[in-house]
Amino acid sequence: MNNFNFCVPTDIRFGKGQIACLPEELKKYGKRILMVYGGGSIKRTGLYDTILDLLKEFEIYELSGIEPNPKLDSVRKGAAICKEKNIDVILAVGGGSSIDASKHIACAAYYEGDAWDLMLDRSKMTKALPIAVVLTMAATGSEMNPGAVITNEETNEKIEIAGPILYPTISICDPTYLYTLPAKQTAAGTADILSHAMEQYFQPTDDAYLTDRISESLMKTVIHYGPIALKEPENYEARANLMWASSLGLNHILTVGKGGAWSCHPIEHELSAYYDITHGEGLAIVTPAWMKAVLCDATVERFAMFGRNVWDLTEGDAREIAEKAIEKTAEFFKSLGLPSTLKEVGINAEKFEEMAEEAVRTSGISTRSYYHLNKEDIVKIYESCAE
Ligand code: NAP
Ligand code: FE
Repeated sequence: MNNFNFCVPTDIRFGKGQIACLPEELKKYGKRILMVYGGGSIKRTGLYDTILDLLKEFEIYELSGIEPNPKLDSVRKGAAICKEKNIDVILAVGGGSSIDASKHIACAAYYEGDAWDLMLDRSKMTKALPIAVVLTMAATGSEMNPGAVITNEETNEKIEIAGPILYPTISICDPTYLYTLPAKQTAAGTADILSHAMEQYFQPTDDAYLTDRISESLMKTVIHYGPIALKEPENYEARANLMWASSLGLNHILTVGKGGAWSCHPIEHELSAYYDITHGEGLAIVTPAWMKAVLCDATVERFAMFGRNVWDLTEGDAREIAEKAIEKTAEFFKSLGLPSTLKEVGINAEKFEEMAEEAVRTSGISTRSYYHLNKEDIVKIYESCAE
């Protein structure tokens, strides 16, 4: 097991009605709030009114219209409001997109140059406004981690900014807010949580026993409850388990004692950067393709362990169990109604080379991942799930 530091400073308030604490908690930071949210789901569900009602005593400014796959332009707008209105705290209401945009805004608010500079040079990120979150989607784990993924439309880059100052200070996680999620988002979120666990499970380190067992439990939980949440959108137990799995899936508890770069996310990020597809859908397409591409003598034992402990497979030798596990993973995504080919999401071969090159350039996939992949390998992965 590798040495590790583990510190998650986010105060999680989990469960029905926890939003009542919001005024008390936000008061600690000041009176001027920038509320950051998406395309309007919170207005339709009534959450917007609930929040405004609770925060009557505060001065609220709003930045709405945060896109799924949040764009740099929204960040620039948010940072300008923070500077102009002297904002004390940012309140992100929504899923990973609103939270990620809020994190980038929080540090851009203290930076004089263009917000994109902070993505390219983290040493420029010195200070950030406090960020509070009201979570409405179980997927990214952004509610309990220090990362944010932002897309620069001018350059087609989708990259991550991260640093300890970007942890949300408090996240309200009420599973009943998930009841209104469209099936597509429930499915995509489930795929994202599962992928986060897999990315950390399939790492070069092989002796973090406890961490691997926690990962397997989380994966089994998601595989169990994802389909239930789809069938019964108001099943509290299913929503609650998925919501907590979202937070634990990427608060780095699954990386404890391990280390290395991720594989499927860099391959997917290019798809959503170039074609603006839903992140979880992209992951459902590339994950089985990646698994097939890297299954070999060096990796078969871990894939077999994944098959035995996550998919409860018992029959056959390691190779057979590993292959069956990959099949089960692909079937699971399909059973959620997720796409399995790039064609289904309108992507053709035109940019495979360019995207593969970018995936290598912007990540550690060719040098620090579980199974090192170069540009040609990634092109082959895109080709294998093309149609
Ligand atoms: P999202 O983009 O925040 O939201 C997806 C869609 O779901 C939006 O259209 C949103 O509508 C709708 N929605 C959200 N909650 C809803 C609810 N309760 N009821 C009805 N509709 C609802 O989804 P996400 O998957 O959480 O975030 C995706 C982004 O996070 C991607 O850019 C991805 O790359 C990134 N990501 C970040 C991390 C991280 O650690 N920071 C990790 C993985 C991925 P409205 O816009 O109308 O609200
Ligand atoms: Fe993700």
